[in-house]
Parts: sequence; structure tokens; C-alpha cells
Amino acid sequence: MGDRLPSGDAMTSAFPVLAQQVGGRPLAYLDNAATTQMPLQVLDAMRRFDTHDRANIHRGVHTLSQRATDAHEAARARLKAFVGADERHELVFTSGTTESLNLVAQGLSLPGMPSGGGEGALQPAWLRPGDEIVVSALEHHANLVPWQLATRRSGARLRVVQPDAEGRLAPEALAPLLTPRTRVFALTACANGSGERPPYEAMLAMARDAGALTVLDAAQAMAHEVPALASLACDLMAFSGHKMYGPMGIGALVGRRDALDRLVPLRLGGDMVEWVSQTDAGFAELPQRLEGGTPNVCGAIGLAAAAQFIDGVGRDAIAAHVEALREHAAAALSALPGVRVLARHAHGSAIVSFVVDDVHPHDIGTVLDGRGIAVRTGWHCAQPLLERVAHGPTTRASFALYNTHDEVERLVEGVAAAVEMLR
Ligand code: PLP
Repeated sequence: MGDRLPSGDAMTSAFPVLAQQVGGRPLAYLDNAATTQMPLQVLDAMRRFDTHDRANIHRGVHTLSQRATDAHEAARARLKAFVGADERHELVFTSGTTESLNLVAQGLSLPGMPSGGGEGALQPAWLRPGDEIVVSALEHHANLVPWQLATRRSGARLRVVQPDAEGRLAPEALAPLLTPRTRVFALTACANGSGERPPYEAMLAMARDAGALTVLDAAQAMAHEVPALASLACDLMAFSGHKMYGPMGIGALVGRRDALDRLVPLRLGGDMVEWVSQTDAGFAELPQRLEGGTPNVCGAIGLAAAAQFIDGVGRDAIAAHVEALREHAAAALSALPGVRVLARHAHGSAIVSFVVDDVHPHDIGTVLDGRGIAVRTGWHCAQPLLERVAHGPTTRASFALYNTHDEVERLVEGVAAAVEMLR
């Protein structure tokens, strides 16, 4: 465990929700891939905004509106620095990864006025019939279903890079799918269903070299392995606040301005226009053009506080800690009879997903809950992946900086007891 990681009582006072009993045992919260908990620093930042500065942004000359606007823009600047954006990039606030990826897939496949209206003429969609979109078989539904619809709308074709039998995704599997028709390549930085961490750096670079627009779903990476945007061949990257110690209902799409400029705005209305007549409108510059309506200002402030929290603890320390927990859990669970851990080989992951012969994951989850251990069971919104590598739903434990090796031991004991009881 890294020096700067708080431990024991310090951790439960930093994360008040952890200081409770469930099923008569101290809570072991191992559902962090679904949602992480928030530290006091983040809760305090949001409370400060709501009790001192709360007002709508951009439209007011009064002091609170100006303070709120400044805080919102300061949050944007902090998050751009956090993800390693440079002057080529811009960050658009969204409600989370799902909205970010929908904005990309729909924004590229709908006809509209991507870079400012006013001329009245609708431009054809960026994606055209005969184009190809490549995704991987590891994706969360949020990085698959929007592309399925985009192909139907545009007449493009969806192609899927397949993993090997253990769920590994290799650059060599991508190579044959990249052709002059490939317009988009969309990939996860870590598969939430299996815990596989694909070599996304190399795969994005291959796709960029082939002329594709590259999209990275970083939802499962931001809490421990923040991809450094400017050093990646990545045009657009999506993430969620609630998976990185921040609030729910806030996230971002960050990427190159020229890529964001291609997106047809989906949220039309206030704050995203320069002027409006009865029959026409001129759109604002980025990022406002893609942020129509009143944004989640408090959420943006909480998200920036979460980024500050992660940097304060140290990204390397968090990554080393969650990876050690994952390795501990994967090794111990694999040693149990009848238990198969998916992506046993994975590195750079905080997720351990497993199946047990003849026992349903929901039953395991219920037994674990009775012992105060929170895990997730089911398809994890990654049904095609799990059908391929697990042949059904799984039980998934996922780790954050506040988890401990004792909790991993409790998980393993709990699974062993569940198997004994249920088989
Ligand atoms: N992508 C991945 C890899 C995820 O794990 C998730 C959520 O579990 C999402 C996308 C969707 O994130 P959200 O529900 O925050 O929009």
C-alpha cells in the first residue's frame, strides 16, 4: 500500500459511508466498478458550492452567477489538466460515459449543423453508407448499442474485434479489420465485465494510422490508471464522475477540438447558441455548443474535487494498491474448486469477475451480502462479452483505494461458504 493512502480509521473518516455495519459485519464495499464512494473532500466541495455560490452560470451579471461560472470553468480546467489534455483539446461536461458515447455516435450519424448553424442548410451526417465502425467484443453496452444505432442510421457497417479464448484482445486481431473504409474505432480502456485491460495505446495508434477517428471509453480507468490524453492516439475519451470518487450524474467527453467539431449537438436550447431568430440560430463555440441547458455545476465542482483527491493520494499508489488486491483475490478465488476467474492474467485492472460451476451469481451475491460484503452479480451491461467468455452472468468484485487485503480474505471465505452451502 502506498505511503499516502489513508488506512483504518483515517479511511472511514475520509469516506463516511464506509463506517457502517451490514449483516452485523463491517461493510466491505467491493462494488467500485459500478460506483465508488465519495471522500469528505468531494462532499465538502459540493456543499460549499450549494451553500455559498449556487446560481445559474453564464447568464448573470450578479456576484453569485459569476462565482458559479468561474467555479464551473475552474473545474473544467482542472479536469483537462488531470487527463493530460493540451491546447488541441477541449472538455465537454456530460452526465457520464453513456451520454458522452451517445453524443459521439449520434453526433456523427445524424445530419445536422455540427459547427454552427445559421446558414439553414442541413449538412449530411459524417458517417456515410459503406463506412465501417470497429468496436471490440469487450465493450460495455454504452460503447456498443449507440454504434449499432449509428450504423442503422448511416448505412455504415459494424465490425467487432474478437478476443482469444481467455478474453485477451490482441492488436493482431484488429489489423485485418482496419481498411480504408474504417471511419471509427471505439475501445474500452478496461472491460467492466471481465477486468481485461486491452493494449489500448497500441490499438488506438493502429486505428489512427489507418485513418480512423479513435474513441476511448475510460470509465473503468479513471480511478486508478488515468490515460494521458495528449500522449495517446485518441481523438475522443469518455468518463464518469461516480466511478472515480466523484458524484453521480456528471462526467465528460474530452478530446481534440477538430473531432468535437464534427459532432452534431444533441441538446439544443439555451446556452449553446450565439443568436436566435424565429426561424434560425447560430451555435456557440466549443465547449458550450455541446452543453445546451443548465449544466450540473455542483457535479462538475465535485468531479474536479475528486480529481484533486486522486492526485493528492497519488495515482501510482492507488494503481499499485488496487492491482495488488485484484491479484490477491484472483489467485485465492481461482484456488477454490469449481471457481473460474475471467481474465486471470490481467494487469492494470481493479476488477475480478468469476463464475462458479452450478451456482448462480445472484445466490453468491446474496450470501455475501449477508456477510456485509457488497459485490455485483449479473451481466454487468456487457452481455455479448460474458456470453462469449463466461457463457452466462458472473459475480464481480471490484476494488478502490479504501479496500483492504482483509476484505479480500472475507470475500474469498464468503465465496467458499456460498459454494459449500449452494452446491
Ligand atoms: N463503460 C464502461 C466500461 C462502464 O463500466 C460503464 C459503467 O459501468 C459505462 C461505460 C457507463 O457508465 P455510466 O453508467 O456512468 O454512464
